[in-house]
Amino acid sequence: MRILLVEPDYYARYPPLGLLKIATHHRLAGDDVYLVRGRTQEDLPEPDRIYVTSLFTYAWRSVRDAVAYYRGLFPGSKILLGGIYASLLPSHARLLGADEVHVGLKPELEDLVPSWDLIPEWDGSILFASRGCIRKCGFCSVPKLEGPPTDLRQQIKNLIYPRHKRVILWDNNILGNANWEPIFDELAGLDYEVDFNQGLDARRVTREVARKLKKLRLHSIRMAYDYPGVGPFVERAIKLLDEEGISRRKIVVYTLYNYVDTPQNFRDRVAELLSWGVTSYPMRFEPLTSLTKNAWVSPNWTEEELQMVAAARRVMGYAGAFPPYDALVRKVTNARTFREAFELAKPKTFEHKNTRRRNPRYAGPLDWYSYVSKMHAS
Ligand code: SF4
Repeated sequence: MRILLVEPDYYARYPPLGLLKIATHHRLAGDDVYLVRGRTQEDLPEPDRIYVTSLFTYAWRSVRDAVAYYRGLFPGSKILLGGIYASLLPSHARLLGADEVHVGLKPELEDLVPSWDLIPEWDGSILFASRGCIRKCGFCSVPKLEGPPTDLRQQIKNLIYPRHKRVILWDNNILGNANWEPIFDELAGLDYEVDFNQGLDARRVTREVARKLKKLRLHSIRMAYDYPGVGPFVERAIKLLDEEGISRRKIVVYTLYNYVDTPQNFRDRVAELLSWGVTSYPMRFEPLTSLTKNAWVSPNWTEEELQMVAAARRVMGYAGAFPPYDALVRKVTNARTFREAFELAKPKTFEHKNTRRRNPRYAGPLDWYSYVSKMHAS
């Protein structure tokens, strides 16, 4: 058979892991496999089957366009649609015109090494040492899609592509699973940079965990501070990591907002994180089945307050995060209110002492914009 794998042209930081595993599955059966992104203009042979993947629900339009495009190009091919959007909103996904919509994981793919050669420029092996999670956070799709912990591996070396330099674990909560220790030990014996991409559960960071993390070649450590009650655990985890020699500058803490929190509570959590010397990475809450990005405004927030956070991330932050830079720490920790913390400086008032002499029409201190429009009007 000829198999066409399609990743729609939505924004994605990581390669389409599911499609790469489907590629391996078909190659093992002797099939020819082609991987494309978006609506390609490449000259492709007519496939017997087309797999289209999906990601966030709000990116569904790119999925719709991909299905329609390949349906038009190859009317006789069978189109199968899967992935996160298809699993979270199958009834919506069924309206897009695919022949089949697959919900959830495909267990027969779990043990396969993805066909990384299809993306030669990529340098990291993405893998799971476990599936599922011990917790049930209301904003997260994992309890819905994967449920409690399953598929606990005792080793992962066999899932690493030899030409890769990094190991990227997509485990949802590796510290919540009983196999974390053998996996950490195995990683310590391998010469790869390690990325616990989905973050580490601060409530499960013990002295032993911190010691074992220190033995790994880590780019950064990610945790989350989503609710006020988690604060003491995050603080303790940072302290333990620091005591074991892991720099606070390496620690990034996701900070959920626009969920059940208030702007003031968000300010308090960011201020705490900055005062602990770590980076806060604000994460705007998006309902799991949202069909439009950033449309949700929590009853505790206003659109203006959400815009203030977005602007502060762009102007005061770095790459969307709030690192513990001295000026930023001072501004946020000295502020008593959300507005004081995230309001940007106003444009300077136009007050040149000599203006009155040089410009007889000048009538008093004005801000720059009124000054310019006054000049144009006169
Ligand atoms: S701990 Fe993480 S993976 Fe588990 S339910 Fe909460 S957010 Fe999801």
